[in-house]
Amino acid sequence: MHDRTDWGYSNSGLIASRGQALLVDTQFTLGATREFLAAVEETCPLDAIGVVVSTHQNGDHTWGHQLLPQAEIITSVASAASSCHEMGPDQLTLLARSAATDNASAYVAEHFGHFDFTGVTVVTSTRTFEGREEVKVGDTVVELIDLGAGHSAGDVAVHVPDERVVFTGDALFSGAHMVVWSGSLSGCIQACQMLLDTEADVFVPGHGRQLDRAGVIAIQDQLSDVADAAGAYARRGVPLSDAARLIKASHAGTWAHPERLFTQTAAAYAESGVPGVPSSTWAMVEGMASLAF
Ligand SMILES: [Zn+2]
Repeated sequence: MHDRTDWGYSNSGLIASRGQALLVDTQFTLGATREFLAAVEETCPLDAIGVVVSTHQNGDHTWGHQLLPQAEIITSVASAASSCHEMGPDQLTLLARSAATDNASAYVAEHFGHFDFTGVTVVTSTRTFEGREEVKVGDTVVELIDLGAGHSAGDVAVHVPDERVVFTGDALFSGAHMVVWSGSLSGCIQACQMLLDTEADVFVPGHGRQLDRAGVIAIQDQLSDVADAAGAYARRGVPLSDAARLIKASHAGTWAHPERLFTQTAAAYAESGVPGVPSSTWAMVEGMASLAF
């Protein structure tokens, strides 16, 4: 796990039992994934890893998959379907190192320019599921939960009922604001509820430190407050950029990346039926950059 909340430093998970192992996500770069696998090897041999679960298709959770060629790669149908819309490593490298001086390019350069994606080949899932699916890892029952669209177009959680632990992917960010790529803030709030409904006590977020139930409830409450505030601005006809700025002023609190409140506000606007709300990845980056600088 990474304590840091900066873009691109994600958490991966290991579930091992009786000579079998399952990984939850890999890392952003081959170097970071090799470091993670070296730590895994202290617990079990790498050839015991029969399954990698992709919690969603963002590169910071999937761009190390190629280092586990023997493993089945499982994700939800919705997550797999969204993979073709994701930015590739070459495109991200070009953007992060471009000389363009607009806000959005500067934002990408600041947050992604230091990552080295050399050698990354994007590997897609080999098996998909919908709803819930049970996987056995040795003696351990693992439940895969299709959370639907929230952070991404398809998010997946990995629940270990006997341990009361859930690996949540980016359905939860700890110590930082949620980024909503899917246009569904209500989906993010619903995903928090699905995670709480597992009755787990420990939640391993996609980014940041592990959370307890109170931590998940705090995130759900914050997202609900933003949804209410943004809905009210949408009904009053406040332009999206103004609403996002007002919500950043009122809801930033102490969490990192308050500029991500742009994506939450945009999602709430889209869900309120406001016409013409931008939804592309680049529009979200432009919106965040406009609040960051
Ligand atoms: Zn992530």
